[in-house]
Amino acid sequence: MLGLVRGVGLVVSVGLLGTAGAAAQAPEHGAAGIGDPYFPTSGNGGYRVQHYDITAGYVAKTRRLRGDTTIKARATQDLSRLNLDLLLRASEVRVDGHRAKFRQTRHELIVTPRHTVPDGTRFTVRVRYAGRPGTIEYADERPFIASKSGALAVGQPNIAAWWFPSNDHPSDKARFDIALRVAEGRQTVSNGRLVSAKTRNGRTTWRWHAGKPMATYLAFAGWGGFAIERGHTRSGRPYLYAYDKRLGTGILETAKRSLHATGPVTGFLSKRWGRYPYRQIGGVVTAAPLGYALENQTRPVYDRVFFAGVNRGVVVHEMAHQWFGDAIALKRWRDIWLNEGYATYSEWIWAAQHGGRTPAQQFDDLYDLPATDHFWSLPIGNPGAHNIFAGPIYTRGAMALHALRREIGSEAFFDVSRRWVHRNADGVGSTNEYRRLAEEVSGKDLGPLFSSWLGPGKPEV
Ligand SMILES: [Zn+2]
Repeated sequence: MLGLVRGVGLVVSVGLLGTAGAAAQAPEHGAAGIGDPYFPTSGNGGYRVQHYDITAGYVAKTRRLRGDTTIKARATQDLSRLNLDLLLRASEVRVDGHRAKFRQTRHELIVTPRHTVPDGTRFTVRVRYAGRPGTIEYADERPFIASKSGALAVGQPNIAAWWFPSNDHPSDKARFDIALRVAEGRQTVSNGRLVSAKTRNGRTTWRWHAGKPMATYLAFAGWGGFAIERGHTRSGRPYLYAYDKRLGTGILETAKRSLHATGPVTGFLSKRWGRYPYRQIGGVVTAAPLGYALENQTRPVYDRVFFAGVNRGVVVHEMAHQWFGDAIALKRWRDIWLNEGYATYSEWIWAAQHGGRTPAQQFDDLYDLPATDHFWSLPIGNPGAHNIFAGPIYTRGAMALHALRREIGSEAFFDVSRRWVHRNADGVGSTNEYRRLAEEVSGKDLGPLFSSWLGPGKPEV
């Protein structure tokens, strides 16, 4: 497994194997991947998911997760067999209520329904499963964090397969109901609205509802000790913040002051990018060794290391992703610059409004880097699977947006951005679609601008 996604050579060879395998498959077998060359086993072919109903109990003492997930989907071909992505061991699979045959390879749950599911029909798959996700490494990643005090299911691009079976690719979004079970006296946190928390026989089930379509990697779960703050902002928006009980008092104080900016930040971003795509806002600060913050839909997660001092910039970044990344998800992972470029550019415009440097100054300072600098070498519009979080994706992504703004003017740039969100909210988008929209709004041929800013090398200005 080592190197499966980190090494380009390996990705290529896996892709070729996948193609050969697909050619040998029966025509009524759903494909084992959705067709993203960066992650050949991510997602599956032959169906689209509408809804996930997940129940996942976690026992800290044994570090064991037990799950029961029902997926509502619609077939896009006749399916005599279909795949789900799951790294835990399944014990029972039912399709439309009937027991189905299944087998598992490392990452694929291969299901043979009793009857072929006809193209265009809706069907349900229910999977019961269990395992110790904290011990599982796949594709050189071990994103599920388990400790004696709890666990955290968070990661990008991959996390879903560690805790629920899915069509694991952002291009197939679905609605979610997530029930997390934990020992009485402990807490859980997930996306969207907290519906209820009921205790029976020493275990509490927390029900969460995410009513808008969501990419699988943005589905998030935390089990453990959290201090939870709930309420409504001054503008009436419901919020839920969760702070790991292991945070020191100093960090807790700065974390709270930072997260409490989420309401005003949401208002600030709404003025630039259009209406906030969701109802709920929130955030989670963890003491687990994450090393990053992640834009889980409605509920970003932050490593405590961000809050050595008050840090609203990281909140701006993760909240900007609610528009760019969450509401508009990626059709293919190669377009990650659209997510990170907009999140970084949002930080720039926030900083400028709060006494910092302007986007033009940020741009000019970075542009001063000589053409020979390594900074310019990565083709950010197709960086390779192992580089999707490289620094230039963020900063050169923001520079590309600023270059577009200079080319078409501020008014057209913000118009393009808002239309982009409005047109694709709850769906997916690609760089080509974004460029075409910018051309439509500005009336300019932007091919040369996009190819120079997204390719390798320092662009001319
Ligand atoms: Zn980001």
